[in-house]
Amino acid sequence: MEKLTMEKIVNISKQYGFIFQGSEIYDGLANTWDYGPLGSRLKNAVKDAWRKRFIQENDNSFEIDAAILMNPRVWEASGHISNFSDPLIDCKECKTRHRADHLIEGFTSDVVPDKMTDEEMVKYIKDNNIPCPKCGKSNYTDIREFNLMFETNRGVIKDDKSVVYLRPETAQGEFVNFLNVQRTMRAKIPFGIGQIGKAFRNEITPGNFTFRTIEFEQMEHQLFCKEGTDSNFYAEYKEKAKNFLKDLGIKEENIRFHDHDKLSHYAKEACDIEYNFPFGFSELWGTHNRTNYDLSKHMEYSGKSLEYLDPETNEKYIPYVVESSVGCDRLVLATLCEAYDEETLEDGTTREVMHLLPYLAPYKVAILPLIKKNHADKAKEVYKELSKNFMCTYDESGNIGKRYRREDVIGTPWCITIDDETINNNTVTIRDRDTMKQITLNLDEVKDYVLDKINF
Ligand code: ATP
Repeated sequence: MEKLTMEKIVNISKQYGFIFQGSEIYDGLANTWDYGPLGSRLKNAVKDAWRKRFIQENDNSFEIDAAILMNPRVWEASGHISNFSDPLIDCKECKTRHRADHLIEGFTSDVVPDKMTDEEMVKYIKDNNIPCPKCGKSNYTDIREFNLMFETNRGVIKDDKSVVYLRPETAQGEFVNFLNVQRTMRAKIPFGIGQIGKAFRNEITPGNFTFRTIEFEQMEHQLFCKEGTDSNFYAEYKEKAKNFLKDLGIKEENIRFHDHDKLSHYAKEACDIEYNFPFGFSELWGTHNRTNYDLSKHMEYSGKSLEYLDPETNEKYIPYVVESSVGCDRLVLATLCEAYDEETLEDGTTREVMHLLPYLAPYKVAILPLIKKNHADKAKEVYKELSKNFMCTYDESGNIGKRYRREDVIGTPWCITIDDETINNNTVTIRDRDTMKQITLNLDEVKDYVLDKINF
């Protein structure tokens, strides 16, 4: 296959019902996307896999579902009100808006813009005549810091006191519920709190399809541990994330660790796993050793103790936190990019195929009556019966080869053909998406044959 482009993935997603442009009939709302019937199933499978690995199979881990709107003091304590901003700079010539740090990063790797003040960045851009990526000229405004949090108002009166924020990350929900979970679950450190939920960021430079959007879903897990054990857990969670991606069918050569040398104000160690998206290696998953920064800040701002009392040693301390945070939308995008292929077959034709892990495939089997007139009734019966166990689809139109192709491109792992043999001998042929080979099975064996292969 030629190199995969984002355009291809966007088109496939739209054409087959994975992801549509948001509010499409109104010409869309920039950088919002709606998951269609296939995309929702894929996304739910990704979430369930995460839930299984990071909650169910993870000793002492608990899931919560916290509110999106939180007391604004939370965002004061977390530093988001004062720090969560991007340095904006406008091109005076073509009026395009840029992030000053991105302009510098695109120009050189000799300096680290995150370590520069706004004034230093402006000076660097001027001194080096960094051209505008859109028009090529170099004539910019000063930098303005732009807070990424979405503001809204509660109540009928719109004033400063009524401002609330749509959460820019799910993590704070875990921090403010630390003691609630610890007490009610009688949890002993080390233990984890995780959640899957929406987050909102007024990104200045959204784009690359669902990679960077203004509304997205995060899957985050915070491991609360004792100081001194944090670095081991940090290393463990980096590996855990990598193994999870591999188990979801992502090839090792397409992921890499990027350890940060410039750290956020709260972090002691930080690492991204980057995925080789069609536009290059970019952040998919962050693992951070956040020390006891978050709980300390919430203690300070709320005035409530968030200390943990070790029941065995009677020692009291503020736990350290190791965070594992992945964007669900970015992960869905990665699974699509990873799975899509255009294969040249022996007869010289090409087939489009989505080699999704069977566990992730929106439909597990397609039921195809060979001849509609003769086999549709039996096929519908089989469809109804198998649908009790997993997601099936039914297709009776077009020749069988065309129907196979339609299933290949949406990733359906098995096609079951219903023909005279089914009616006379209770057997069916099962065609495998990846090998395109067919085997014959007794109809009664089909359920277990499939169930056996769709676990995570
Ligand atoms: P980036 O550097 O790409 O802006 P970040 O470092 O700000 O990301 P975190 O705050 O660590 O990201 O968020 C954790 C995860 O949430 C990211 O690894 C990413 O998968 C996802 N994520 C963050 N911002 C977005 C966004 N605007 N759209 C989609 N997913 C996002």
